[in-house]
Amino acid sequence: MNAITVAAVGTAVGLTVAVAMEPWARFLHGSVWHGALWSVHRSHHTRRKGRFETNDVLSATHAPVAALLIMIGCNLHGLGAAVTLGFGAGMTAFGVAYVVLHDGLVHGRLPVTFLNRLHFFRRIRDAHAVHHARGSAPFGFFSGPRELTRARSRQQLARESYAPARRRNGA
Ligand SMILES: [Zn+2]
Ligand SMILES: [Zn+2]
Repeated sequence: MNAITVAAVGTAVGLTVAVAMEPWARFLHGSVWHGALWSVHRSHHTRRKGRFETNDVLSATHAPVAALLIMIGCNLHGLGAAVTLGFGAGMTAFGVAYVVLHDGLVHGRLPVTFLNRLHFFRRIRDAHAVHHARGSAPFGFFSGPRELTRARSRQQLARESYAPARRRNGA
């Protein structure tokens, strides 16, 4: 396998993993952080006293895995290196984007308010504010706006299908 093919495989794996991290993070947030590990995640839903919160431990869980994959990948060759490095790099890319936008932009822990100039980032910020206000869905961060839009259209559909029944009952 030539170097270009190896690089293409590594890039494809990296991009796929970076994108797939979002549904994985949404699942963890909704089913585990707000489930069995609520005692840890709760610190993220209360006012932070100081620089850190207990929940930071959860945010940091994937970094050692990504670092290990990159270290292993550096000692491999060919396809093995491409897949392993791609996996680690994809996880890292998602982690960096999450820290900058979630912790930095939304929660003001990094001086990155200039990112608010981008409409999509403002939509992500607003959707995440809904999560913090309700303590429920949307659990996805980057997919938060889409989750909200889908939930609203489901509610709209439910209202529309309920309205004729009410009229039939003379309400
Ligand atoms: Zn939460
Ligand atoms: Zn948050």
